[in-house]
Amino acid sequence: MTAIIKEETLEIINLNPATGEEINKVRILQKEEVEALVYKAKEYFSIWSKLSLNDRAKYLKNLRKEIVRNMDDLVKTICEETGKTEMDSIIEVFTVCEHLNYIIKKGPKFLKDEKKSTGLFIHKKAYVSFQPKGVVGIISPWNYPFILTAGPLVQALMAGNTVVVKPSEVTPNTTIKLREIATKAGIPQDAFLVATGDGRTGAFLVESKNTDMICFTGSTATGRKIAEICGKMLKPVILELGGKDPMIVFEDADLRRAAKAALWGGISNSGQTCIAVERVIVQENVYKEFVELIQQELSKIKQGYYNQEISVGSMAFEKQFQIVMNQIQDAKEKGARIITGGSKNPEFSKGLFITPTLIENVSDSMKVWEEETFGPVLAFKTFKTEEEAIAIANQSPYGLNASVWSKNKKRAKRVARQVKSGAICINDVMVNYIISDLPFGGVKESGIGRVYSKEGLRAFTDMQSVVVDRFNLPFELWWFPYSNKIKNLFKNFTKLLFG
Ligand code: NAD
Repeated sequence: MTAIIKEETLEIINLNPATGEEINKVRILQKEEVEALVYKAKEYFSIWSKLSLNDRAKYLKNLRKEIVRNMDDLVKTICEETGKTEMDSIIEVFTVCEHLNYIIKKGPKFLKDEKKSTGLFIHKKAYVSFQPKGVVGIISPWNYPFILTAGPLVQALMAGNTVVVKPSEVTPNTTIKLREIATKAGIPQDAFLVATGDGRTGAFLVESKNTDMICFTGSTATGRKIAEICGKMLKPVILELGGKDPMIVFEDADLRRAAKAALWGGISNSGQTCIAVERVIVQENVYKEFVELIQQELSKIKQGYYNQEISVGSMAFEKQFQIVMNQIQDAKEKGARIITGGSKNPEFSKGLFITPTLIENVSDSMKVWEEETFGPVLAFKTFKTEEEAIAIANQSPYGLNASVWSKNKKRAKRVARQVKSGAICINDVMVNYIISDLPFGGVKESGIGRVYSKEGLRAFTDMQSVVVDRFNLPFELWWFPYSNKIKNLFKNFTKLLFG
Protein backbone atom coordinates (compact mmCIF):
# COMPACT_ATOMS: atom_id res chain seq x y z
CA MET A 1 0.00 0.00 0.00
CA THR A 2 1.14 3.56 -0.52
CA ALA A 3 -1.59 5.27 1.45
CA ILE A 4 -2.67 3.39 4.54
CA ILE A 5 -5.92 4.59 6.07
CA LYS A 6 -5.93 4.45 9.90
CA GLU A 7 -9.57 4.66 10.95
CA GLU A 8 -8.78 4.77 14.71
CA THR A 9 -6.72 7.94 14.43
CA LEU A 10 -8.37 9.29 11.23
CA GLU A 11 -5.00 9.42 9.54
CA ILE A 12 -3.47 8.53 6.21
CA ILE A 13 0.04 7.11 6.34
CA ASN A 14 1.80 8.15 3.18
CA LEU A 15 4.37 5.77 1.70
CA ASN A 16 6.94 6.26 -1.05
CA PRO A 17 5.83 3.81 -3.79
CA ALA A 18 9.34 3.40 -5.21
CA THR A 19 10.96 2.44 -1.89
CA GLY A 20 8.11 1.48 0.41
CA GLU A 21 9.36 3.96 3.07
CA GLU A 22 6.96 6.02 5.18
CA ILE A 23 6.89 9.72 4.23
CA ASN A 24 4.44 11.24 6.73
CA LYS A 25 0.89 11.18 8.06
CA VAL A 26 -1.99 13.51 7.24
CA ARG A 27 -5.42 13.85 8.78
CA ILE A 28 -8.69 12.71 7.23
CA LEU A 29 -10.84 15.78 7.76
CA GLN A 30 -14.38 15.24 8.97
CA LYS A 31 -17.55 17.04 7.95
CA GLU A 32 -17.35 19.88 10.52
CA GLU A 33 -13.68 20.49 9.71
CA VAL A 34 -14.37 20.68 5.98
CA GLU A 35 -17.30 23.01 6.66
CA ALA A 36 -15.06 25.25 8.77
CA LEU A 37 -12.60 25.58 5.88
CA VAL A 38 -15.39 26.26 3.41
CA TYR A 39 -16.75 28.91 5.76
CA LYS A 40 -13.35 30.65 5.94
CA ALA A 41 -13.17 30.63 2.13
CA LYS A 42 -16.70 32.01 1.96
CA GLU A 43 -15.85 34.85 4.34
CA TYR A 44 -12.72 35.72 2.41
CA PHE A 45 -14.58 35.67 -0.92
CA SER A 46 -15.98 39.14 -0.22
CA ILE A 47 -12.40 40.50 -0.17
CA TRP A 48 -10.76 38.44 -2.93
CA SER A 49 -13.61 38.87 -5.40
CA LYS A 50 -13.45 42.65 -5.09
CA LEU A 51 -9.80 42.89 -6.15
CA SER A 52 -9.28 44.18 -9.66
CA LEU A 53 -8.42 41.66 -12.37
CA ASN A 54 -4.94 43.16 -12.65
CA ASP A 55 -4.36 42.82 -8.92
CA ARG A 56 -5.36 39.16 -8.99
CA ALA A 57 -3.02 38.65 -11.96
CA LYS A 58 -0.19 40.24 -9.92
CA TYR A 59 -0.72 37.73 -7.11
CA LEU A 60 -0.53 34.92 -9.67
CA LYS A 61 2.65 36.35 -11.16
CA ASN A 62 4.23 36.21 -7.69
CA LEU A 63 3.01 32.63 -7.38
CA ARG A 64 4.63 31.68 -10.70
CA LYS A 65 7.95 33.17 -9.57
CA GLU A 66 7.75 31.45 -6.19
CA ILE A 67 7.01 28.09 -7.85
CA VAL A 68 10.16 28.47 -9.97
CA ARG A 69 12.20 29.46 -6.88
CA ASN A 70 10.97 26.33 -5.09
CA MET A 71 11.16 24.01 -8.07
CA ASP A 72 13.72 21.56 -6.62
CA ASP A 73 11.81 21.14 -3.39
CA LEU A 74 8.56 20.72 -5.29
CA VAL A 75 10.01 18.13 -7.68
CA LYS A 76 11.37 16.15 -4.72
CA THR A 77 7.94 16.18 -3.05
CA ILE A 78 6.19 15.01 -6.23
CA CYS A 79 8.75 12.25 -6.88
CA GLU A 80 8.65 10.97 -3.31
CA GLU A 81 4.92 10.48 -3.19
CA THR A 82 4.37 9.25 -6.76
CA GLY A 83 7.59 7.39 -7.63
CA LYS A 84 7.60 9.18 -10.98
CA THR A 85 10.81 10.32 -12.67
CA GLU A 86 12.30 13.74 -12.01
CA MET A 87 11.67 14.62 -15.67
CA ASP A 88 7.97 13.74 -15.35
CA SER A 89 7.81 15.94 -12.22
CA ILE A 90 9.62 18.82 -13.95
CA ILE A 91 7.09 18.54 -16.81
CA GLU A 92 4.38 19.10 -14.18
CA VAL A 93 6.05 22.28 -12.93
CA PHE A 94 6.80 23.53 -16.45
CA THR A 95 3.19 22.96 -17.56
CA VAL A 96 1.74 24.81 -14.59
CA CYS A 97 4.10 27.77 -15.18
CA GLU A 98 3.10 27.94 -18.86
CA HIS A 99 -0.62 27.95 -17.93
CA LEU A 100 0.01 30.54 -15.22
CA ASN A 101 1.81 32.71 -17.71
CA TYR A 102 -1.15 32.56 -20.08
CA ILE A 103 -3.65 33.31 -17.34
CA ILE A 104 -1.60 36.26 -16.03
CA LYS A 105 -1.37 37.74 -19.54
CA LYS A 106 -4.79 36.90 -20.94
CA GLY A 107 -6.96 36.47 -17.83
CA PRO A 108 -7.71 40.18 -17.29
CA LYS A 109 -8.70 40.52 -20.96
CA PHE A 110 -10.94 37.42 -20.99
CA LEU A 111 -12.70 38.33 -17.75
CA LYS A 112 -13.43 41.98 -18.31
CA ASP A 113 -16.88 43.03 -19.47
CA GLU A 114 -17.52 41.95 -23.06
CA LYS A 115 -19.53 44.24 -25.31
CA LYS A 116 -22.42 42.59 -27.19
CA SER A 117 -24.45 43.73 -30.16
CA THR A 118 -28.07 44.70 -29.50
CA GLY A 119 -29.41 43.89 -32.97
CA LEU A 120 -32.41 46.00 -33.79
CA PHE A 121 -32.43 47.52 -30.35
CA ILE A 122 -30.06 50.36 -31.14
CA HIS A 123 -31.39 52.42 -28.26
CA LYS A 124 -29.83 49.91 -25.83
CA LYS A 125 -26.28 48.92 -24.91
CA ALA A 126 -25.38 45.38 -23.88
CA TYR A 127 -22.46 43.57 -22.35
CA VAL A 128 -21.65 40.41 -20.44
CA SER A 129 -19.93 40.60 -17.08
CA PHE A 130 -18.08 37.57 -15.70
CA GLN A 131 -18.72 37.22 -12.01
CA PRO A 132 -16.94 34.80 -9.70
CA LYS A 133 -19.11 31.96 -8.48
CA GLY A 134 -17.97 32.00 -4.84
CA VAL A 135 -16.23 29.07 -3.15
CA VAL A 136 -14.92 26.49 -5.61
CA GLY A 137 -14.22 22.96 -4.34
CA ILE A 138 -11.38 21.37 -6.30
CA ILE A 139 -10.96 17.60 -5.98
CA SER A 140 -7.83 16.16 -7.55
CA PRO A 141 -6.30 12.76 -8.36
CA TRP A 142 -2.83 11.35 -7.68
CA ASN A 143 -1.38 10.89 -11.16
CA TYR A 144 -0.34 14.52 -11.74
CA PRO A 145 -0.77 15.88 -8.22
CA PHE A 146 0.73 19.26 -9.07
CA ILE A 147 -0.79 20.08 -12.47
CA LEU A 148 -4.24 18.79 -11.61
CA THR A 149 -4.41 20.83 -8.42
CA ALA A 150 -2.55 24.00 -9.41
CA GLY A 151 -4.18 24.15 -12.88
CA PRO A 152 -7.81 24.50 -11.75
CA LEU A 153 -6.72 26.46 -8.65
CA VAL A 154 -5.12 29.33 -10.57
CA GLN A 155 -8.06 29.58 -12.96
CA ALA A 156 -10.53 29.70 -10.08
CA LEU A 157 -8.48 32.34 -8.24
CA MET A 158 -7.98 34.47 -11.35
CA ALA A 159 -11.75 34.44 -11.89
CA GLY A 160 -12.20 35.83 -8.35
CA ASN A 161 -13.26 32.72 -6.47
CA THR A 162 -11.82 31.39 -3.26
CA VAL A 163 -10.89 27.71 -3.18
CA VAL A 164 -10.86 24.64 -0.97
CA VAL A 165 -8.78 21.81 -2.46
CA LYS A 166 -9.24 18.14 -1.54
CA PRO A 167 -6.07 16.44 -2.82
CA SER A 168 -5.90 12.71 -3.44
CA GLU A 169 -5.29 10.62 -0.32
CA VAL A 170 -2.37 9.06 -2.24
CA THR A 171 -0.58 12.38 -2.87
CA PRO A 172 -1.54 15.05 -0.30
CA ASN A 173 1.96 16.46 0.19
CA THR A 174 2.24 18.11 -3.21
CA THR A 175 -0.85 20.22 -2.48
CA ILE A 176 0.37 21.00 1.03
CA LYS A 177 3.69 22.14 -0.53
CA LEU A 178 1.78 24.20 -3.12
CA ARG A 179 -0.06 26.01 -0.34
CA GLU A 180 3.23 26.74 1.46
CA ILE A 181 4.60 28.21 -1.78
CA ALA A 182 1.39 30.18 -2.38
CA THR A 183 1.60 31.62 1.12
CA LYS A 184 5.22 32.65 0.52
CA ALA A 185 4.04 34.30 -2.72
CA GLY A 186 1.56 36.37 -0.71
CA ILE A 187 -1.65 34.58 -1.76
CA PRO A 188 -3.96 35.21 1.22
CA GLN A 189 -4.29 32.06 3.34
CA ASP A 190 -8.08 32.00 3.23
CA ALA A 191 -8.22 32.36 -0.54
CA PHE A 192 -6.77 28.84 -0.90
CA LEU A 193 -7.36 26.19 1.76
CA VAL A 194 -6.59 22.49 1.82
CA ALA A 195 -8.84 19.70 3.13
CA THR A 196 -6.77 16.51 3.37
CA GLY A 197 -8.57 13.19 3.48
CA ASP A 198 -10.07 10.46 1.34
CA GLY A 199 -13.26 10.12 -0.71
CA ARG A 200 -15.41 10.87 2.32
CA THR A 201 -13.71 14.25 2.74
CA GLY A 202 -14.27 14.91 -0.97
CA ALA A 203 -17.94 14.07 -0.59
CA PHE A 204 -18.30 16.57 2.31
CA LEU A 205 -16.92 19.28 0.03
CA VAL A 206 -19.36 18.36 -2.75
CA GLU A 207 -22.35 18.13 -0.38
CA SER A 208 -21.60 21.40 1.42
CA LYS A 209 -24.30 24.04 0.92
CA ASN A 210 -21.52 26.59 0.93
CA THR A 211 -19.49 25.39 -2.05
CA ASP A 212 -20.74 27.09 -5.20
CA MET A 213 -18.99 24.96 -7.79
CA ILE A 214 -17.01 21.70 -7.97
CA CYS A 215 -14.10 21.07 -10.31
CA PHE A 216 -13.34 17.36 -10.18
CA THR A 217 -10.54 15.44 -11.86
CA GLY A 218 -10.52 11.69 -11.36
CA SER A 219 -12.18 8.47 -12.39
CA THR A 220 -15.44 8.23 -14.32
CA ALA A 221 -16.95 6.16 -11.48
CA THR A 222 -16.35 8.89 -8.89
CA GLY A 223 -17.30 11.59 -11.41
CA ARG A 224 -20.71 9.95 -11.81
CA LYS A 225 -21.32 10.00 -8.03
CA ILE A 226 -20.32 13.67 -7.82
CA ALA A 227 -22.49 14.55 -10.82
CA GLU A 228 -25.50 12.95 -9.11
CA ILE A 229 -25.07 15.03 -5.98
CA CYS A 230 -24.36 18.21 -7.93
CA GLY A 231 -27.37 17.46 -10.14
CA LYS A 232 -29.64 17.25 -7.12
CA MET A 233 -28.20 20.43 -5.65
CA LEU A 234 -28.09 22.17 -9.06
CA LYS A 235 -24.44 22.93 -8.33
CA PRO A 236 -22.24 23.65 -11.37
CA VAL A 237 -19.59 21.00 -11.89
CA ILE A 238 -16.66 20.41 -14.22
CA LEU A 239 -15.77 16.74 -14.60
CA GLU A 240 -12.37 15.77 -16.03
CA LEU A 241 -12.55 11.98 -16.16
CA GLY A 242 -10.91 8.88 -17.58
CA GLY A 243 -9.71 8.05 -21.08
CA LYS A 244 -8.72 5.20 -23.37
CA ASP A 245 -7.01 7.18 -26.06
CA PRO A 246 -6.55 5.78 -29.56
CA MET A 247 -3.53 6.42 -31.77
CA ILE A 248 -4.26 5.77 -35.47
CA VAL A 249 -1.15 5.10 -37.55
CA PHE A 250 -1.51 5.09 -41.35
CA GLU A 251 0.95 3.38 -43.69
CA ASP A 252 2.31 6.72 -44.92
CA ALA A 253 3.14 8.05 -41.42
CA ASP A 254 6.68 8.91 -40.37
CA LEU A 255 6.92 5.58 -38.58
CA ARG A 256 10.08 6.35 -36.57
CA ARG A 257 8.55 9.54 -35.13
CA ALA A 258 5.25 7.75 -34.51
CA ALA A 259 7.06 4.91 -32.70
CA LYS A 260 8.87 7.34 -30.39
CA ALA A 261 5.57 9.14 -29.76
CA ALA A 262 3.69 5.92 -29.00
CA LEU A 263 6.30 4.99 -26.46
CA TRP A 264 6.41 8.36 -24.75
CA GLY A 265 2.64 8.80 -24.98
CA GLY A 266 1.97 5.36 -23.51
CA ILE A 267 4.79 4.82 -21.04
CA SER A 268 5.82 8.25 -19.65
CA ASN A 269 4.62 8.75 -16.09
CA SER A 270 4.31 4.93 -16.13
CA GLY A 271 1.25 5.33 -18.35
CA GLN A 272 -0.66 6.98 -15.49
CA THR A 273 -1.81 9.86 -17.65
CA CYS A 274 -5.46 10.49 -18.48
CA ILE A 275 -4.46 11.32 -22.08
CA ALA A 276 -1.95 8.47 -22.38
CA VAL A 277 -1.87 6.48 -25.62
CA GLU A 278 -3.55 3.20 -24.71
CA ARG A 279 -4.94 1.75 -27.96
CA VAL A 280 -2.55 1.71 -30.90
CA ILE A 281 -4.42 1.12 -34.18
CA VAL A 282 -1.97 0.47 -37.03
CA GLN A 283 -2.52 -0.06 -40.76
CA GLU A 284 -1.95 -3.74 -41.41
CA ASN A 285 0.88 -3.52 -43.95
CA VAL A 286 3.20 -1.46 -41.69
CA TYR A 287 2.27 -3.11 -38.39
CA LYS A 288 5.30 -5.41 -38.10
CA GLU A 289 7.77 -2.64 -38.95
CA PHE A 290 6.06 -0.25 -36.53
CA VAL A 291 6.19 -2.63 -33.59
CA GLU A 292 9.86 -3.38 -34.30
CA LEU A 293 10.61 0.35 -34.26
CA ILE A 294 8.87 0.70 -30.89
CA GLN A 295 10.91 -2.20 -29.53
CA GLN A 296 14.13 -0.55 -30.75
CA GLU A 297 13.17 2.68 -28.98
CA LEU A 298 12.17 0.79 -25.86
CA SER A 299 15.60 -0.86 -25.65
CA LYS A 300 17.11 2.64 -25.23
CA ILE A 301 15.20 3.56 -22.06
CA LYS A 302 15.78 2.57 -18.43
CA GLN A 303 13.42 2.06 -15.51
CA GLY A 304 14.40 2.91 -11.95
CA TYR A 305 14.33 5.26 -8.96
CA TYR A 306 13.46 8.85 -9.68
CA ASN A 307 16.79 10.35 -8.60
CA GLN A 308 18.72 8.39 -11.23
CA GLU A 309 19.00 9.03 -14.97
CA ILE A 310 15.93 7.03 -15.92
CA SER A 311 12.90 7.39 -18.18
CA VAL A 312 10.32 5.24 -16.38
CA GLY A 313 9.57 5.24 -12.66
CA SER A 314 7.29 3.15 -10.49
CA MET A 315 3.51 3.04 -10.29
CA ALA A 316 2.09 5.54 -7.81
CA PHE A 317 0.23 3.12 -5.54
CA GLU A 318 -0.60 -0.48 -4.86
CA LYS A 319 -4.22 -0.41 -6.07
CA GLN A 320 -3.26 0.91 -9.50
CA PHE A 321 -0.38 -1.58 -9.69
CA GLN A 322 -2.88 -4.40 -9.11
CA ILE A 323 -5.37 -3.05 -11.70
CA VAL A 324 -2.67 -3.05 -14.39
CA MET A 325 -1.30 -6.51 -13.46
CA ASN A 326 -4.85 -7.86 -13.48
CA GLN A 327 -5.49 -6.47 -16.98
CA ILE A 328 -2.28 -8.03 -18.27
CA GLN A 329 -3.25 -11.40 -16.74
CA ASP A 330 -6.76 -11.17 -18.23
CA ALA A 331 -5.29 -10.44 -21.68
CA LYS A 332 -2.92 -13.43 -21.40
CA GLU A 333 -5.75 -15.75 -20.36
CA LYS A 334 -7.91 -14.60 -23.29
CA GLY A 335 -5.17 -15.30 -25.85
CA ALA A 336 -3.22 -12.05 -26.24
CA ARG A 337 0.53 -12.17 -26.88
CA ILE A 338 2.85 -10.20 -24.64
CA ILE A 339 5.50 -8.89 -27.02
CA THR A 340 7.60 -7.59 -24.16
CA GLY A 341 7.21 -6.76 -20.44
CA GLY A 342 4.05 -7.83 -18.67
CA SER A 343 5.44 -8.36 -15.17
CA LYS A 344 6.69 -6.70 -12.01
CA ASN A 345 10.26 -5.59 -12.58
CA PRO A 346 12.34 -8.04 -10.47
CA GLU A 347 15.19 -5.52 -10.09
CA PHE A 348 13.14 -3.55 -7.56
CA SER A 349 11.79 -5.88 -4.92
CA LYS A 350 10.16 -3.20 -2.73
CA GLY A 351 8.89 -0.73 -5.33
CA LEU A 352 5.80 -0.92 -7.54
CA PHE A 353 7.61 -1.20 -10.87
CA ILE A 354 5.85 -2.72 -13.90
CA THR A 355 8.10 -3.30 -16.91
CA PRO A 356 6.93 -1.40 -20.02
CA THR A 357 4.56 -3.76 -21.80
CA LEU A 358 3.51 -4.24 -25.43
CA ILE A 359 0.51 -6.50 -26.12
CA GLU A 360 -0.82 -7.81 -29.45
CA ASN A 361 -3.57 -10.17 -30.60
CA VAL A 362 -5.97 -8.30 -28.35
CA SER A 363 -9.73 -8.70 -28.68
CA ASP A 364 -12.64 -6.43 -27.76
CA SER A 365 -13.52 -8.47 -24.68
CA MET A 366 -10.13 -8.00 -23.02
CA LYS A 367 -9.99 -5.51 -20.15
CA VAL A 368 -6.79 -4.07 -21.58
CA TRP A 369 -8.77 -2.98 -24.67
CA GLU A 370 -12.08 -2.14 -23.00
CA GLU A 371 -11.16 -0.50 -19.70
CA GLU A 372 -8.83 2.35 -18.82
CA THR A 373 -5.45 0.74 -18.07
CA PHE A 374 -3.51 3.66 -16.56
CA GLY A 375 -0.22 1.78 -16.64
CA PRO A 376 2.89 1.37 -18.85
CA VAL A 377 1.06 -0.73 -21.42
CA LEU A 378 0.43 -0.33 -25.17
CA ALA A 379 -2.17 -2.62 -26.77
CA PHE A 380 -2.19 -3.04 -30.56
CA LYS A 381 -4.80 -3.73 -33.22
CA THR A 382 -4.55 -3.49 -36.99
CA PHE A 383 -6.87 -2.04 -39.64
CA LYS A 384 -7.22 -2.16 -43.42
CA THR A 385 -9.30 0.91 -44.30
CA GLU A 386 -9.75 4.46 -43.01
CA GLU A 387 -13.38 3.73 -42.07
CA GLU A 388 -12.30 0.69 -40.08
CA ALA A 389 -9.67 2.73 -38.18
CA ILE A 390 -12.26 5.36 -37.24
CA ALA A 391 -14.76 2.72 -36.15
CA ILE A 392 -12.19 1.03 -33.89
CA ALA A 393 -11.13 4.39 -32.41
CA ASN A 394 -14.76 5.27 -31.63
CA GLN A 395 -15.60 1.91 -30.04
CA SER A 396 -14.68 3.08 -26.54
CA PRO A 397 -17.15 4.74 -24.15
CA TYR A 398 -14.39 7.27 -23.43
CA GLY A 399 -13.53 10.29 -25.58
CA LEU A 400 -10.71 12.29 -24.03
CA ASN A 401 -7.74 12.60 -26.42
CA ALA A 402 -6.60 10.85 -29.59
CA SER A 403 -3.94 11.10 -32.27
CA VAL A 404 -3.76 10.41 -35.99
CA TRP A 405 -0.56 9.82 -37.92
CA SER A 406 -0.21 10.36 -41.67
CA LYS A 407 1.88 12.51 -44.01
CA ASN A 408 -1.35 13.23 -45.88
CA LYS A 409 -2.65 16.14 -43.75
CA LYS A 410 -5.92 16.26 -45.67
CA ARG A 411 -6.67 12.68 -44.72
CA ALA A 412 -5.46 13.20 -41.14
CA LYS A 413 -7.82 16.17 -40.71
CA ARG A 414 -10.70 14.24 -42.30
CA VAL A 415 -10.15 11.40 -39.83
CA ALA A 416 -9.73 13.80 -36.90
CA ARG A 417 -13.18 15.28 -37.55
CA GLN A 418 -14.74 11.83 -37.28
CA VAL A 419 -13.02 10.69 -34.08
CA LYS A 420 -15.16 11.44 -31.03
CA SER A 421 -12.74 13.03 -28.55
CA GLY A 422 -12.27 16.29 -26.68
CA ALA A 423 -8.94 16.81 -28.46
CA ILE A 424 -6.87 15.15 -31.16
CA CYS A 425 -3.25 15.65 -32.23
CA ILE A 426 -2.08 15.17 -35.81
CA ASN A 427 1.41 13.66 -35.93
CA ASP A 428 1.91 14.32 -32.22
CA VAL A 429 0.64 13.06 -28.88
CA MET A 430 -0.68 14.73 -25.71
CA VAL A 431 0.90 18.11 -26.56
CA ASN A 432 -2.50 19.84 -26.67
CA TYR A 433 -2.50 19.81 -22.85
CA ILE A 434 0.24 22.42 -22.62
CA ILE A 435 -1.26 24.74 -25.25
CA SER A 436 -3.11 27.06 -22.91
CA ASP A 437 -5.22 28.63 -25.63
CA LEU A 438 -6.91 25.26 -26.28
CA PRO A 439 -9.85 24.20 -24.12
CA PHE A 440 -9.20 20.88 -22.39
CA GLY A 441 -11.82 18.27 -21.51
CA GLY A 442 -13.56 15.14 -22.68
CA VAL A 443 -16.66 13.97 -24.51
CA LYS A 444 -18.75 10.83 -23.86
CA GLU A 445 -17.76 9.27 -20.49
CA SER A 446 -14.55 11.31 -20.30
CA GLY A 447 -16.27 14.28 -18.77
CA ILE A 448 -18.29 17.45 -18.89
CA GLY A 449 -16.96 20.98 -19.27
CA ARG A 450 -13.62 22.47 -20.16
CA VAL A 451 -10.62 23.94 -18.36
CA TYR A 452 -7.89 26.30 -19.66
CA SER A 453 -8.31 28.73 -22.60
CA LYS A 454 -10.80 31.60 -22.59
CA GLU A 455 -13.70 29.14 -22.36
CA GLY A 456 -12.17 27.22 -19.44
CA LEU A 457 -11.36 30.34 -17.45
CA ARG A 458 -14.86 31.69 -17.97
CA ALA A 459 -16.28 28.38 -16.74
CA PHE A 460 -15.23 29.49 -13.25
CA THR A 461 -17.60 32.47 -13.51
CA ASP A 462 -21.28 33.20 -13.84
CA MET A 463 -22.03 35.09 -17.00
CA GLN A 464 -24.30 38.01 -16.28
CA SER A 465 -25.94 39.62 -19.28
CA VAL A 466 -26.43 43.35 -18.80
CA VAL A 467 -28.58 45.73 -20.84
CA VAL A 468 -28.33 49.47 -20.38
CA ASP A 469 -30.99 51.82 -21.64
CA ARG A 470 -29.30 54.63 -23.58
CA PHE A 471 -31.77 57.48 -24.01
CA ASN A 472 -34.20 57.33 -21.13
CA LEU A 473 -37.25 57.44 -23.45
CA PRO A 474 -40.57 57.91 -21.61
CA PHE A 475 -41.73 54.37 -22.49
CA GLU A 476 -41.11 51.34 -24.77
CA LEU A 477 -43.49 50.44 -27.58
CA TRP A 478 -44.25 46.96 -26.22
CA TRP A 479 -45.18 48.11 -22.75
CA PHE A 480 -48.78 48.44 -21.51
CA PRO A 481 -51.35 49.51 -22.54
CA TYR A 482 -51.58 47.29 -25.66
CA SER A 483 -53.59 48.74 -28.57
CA ASN A 484 -54.63 47.65 -32.06
CA LYS A 485 -52.34 50.32 -33.53
CA ILE A 486 -49.25 48.96 -31.78
CA LYS A 487 -50.31 45.36 -32.46
CA ASN A 488 -50.53 46.05 -36.21
CA LEU A 489 -47.27 47.96 -36.16
CA PHE A 490 -45.48 44.88 -34.73
CA LYS A 491 -47.26 42.59 -37.16
CA ASN A 492 -46.05 44.69 -40.08
CA PHE A 493 -42.53 44.96 -38.64
CA THR A 494 -42.40 41.19 -38.36
CA LYS A 495 -43.47 40.73 -42.01
CA LEU A 496 -41.09 43.42 -43.22
CA LEU A 497 -38.05 42.32 -41.27
CA PHE A 498 -38.36 38.54 -41.22
CA GLY A 499 -40.79 37.50 -43.94
P1 NAD B 1 -10.61 8.75 -8.05
O1 NAD B 1 -11.89 9.03 -8.72
O2 NAD B 1 -10.46 7.49 -7.30
O3 NAD B 1 -10.24 9.90 -7.02
C1 NAD B 1 -10.10 11.25 -7.40
C2 NAD B 1 -10.34 12.14 -6.20
O4 NAD B 1 -11.71 12.03 -5.81
C3 NAD B 1 -9.52 11.79 -4.97
O5 NAD B 1 -9.12 12.99 -4.35
C4 NAD B 1 -10.52 11.04 -4.10
O6 NAD B 1 -10.22 11.09 -2.72
C5 NAD B 1 -11.79 11.78 -4.40
N1 NAD B 1 -13.02 11.03 -4.15
C6 NAD B 1 -13.21 9.68 -4.14
N2 NAD B 1 -14.51 9.39 -3.90
C7 NAD B 1 -15.16 10.56 -3.78
C8 NAD B 1 -16.51 10.93 -3.56
N3 NAD B 1 -17.48 10.02 -3.42
N4 NAD B 1 -16.83 12.23 -3.51
C9 NAD B 1 -15.89 13.18 -3.69
N5 NAD B 1 -14.58 12.91 -3.88
C10 NAD B 1 -14.22 11.61 -3.95
O7 NAD B 1 -9.50 8.88 -9.19
P2 NAD B 1 -7.94 8.63 -9.07
O8 NAD B 1 -7.69 7.17 -9.01
O9 NAD B 1 -7.38 9.50 -8.00
O10 NAD B 1 -7.42 9.21 -10.45
C11 NAD B 1 -7.27 8.46 -11.61
C12 NAD B 1 -8.38 8.77 -12.58
O11 NAD B 1 -8.39 10.15 -12.88
C13 NAD B 1 -8.23 8.08 -13.91
O12 NAD B 1 -9.46 7.57 -14.32
C14 NAD B 1 -7.78 9.20 -14.84
O13 NAD B 1 -8.08 9.00 -16.19
C15 NAD B 1 -8.51 10.35 -14.28
N6 NAD B 1 -7.86 11.59 -14.67
C16 NAD B 1 -8.51 12.42 -15.53
C17 NAD B 1 -7.88 13.59 -15.96
C18 NAD B 1 -8.55 14.54 -16.91
O14 NAD B 1 -8.11 15.69 -16.99
N7 NAD B 1 -9.58 14.14 -17.64
C19 NAD B 1 -6.61 13.90 -15.49
C20 NAD B 1 -6.00 13.01 -14.63
C21 NAD B 1 -6.63 11.87 -14.21
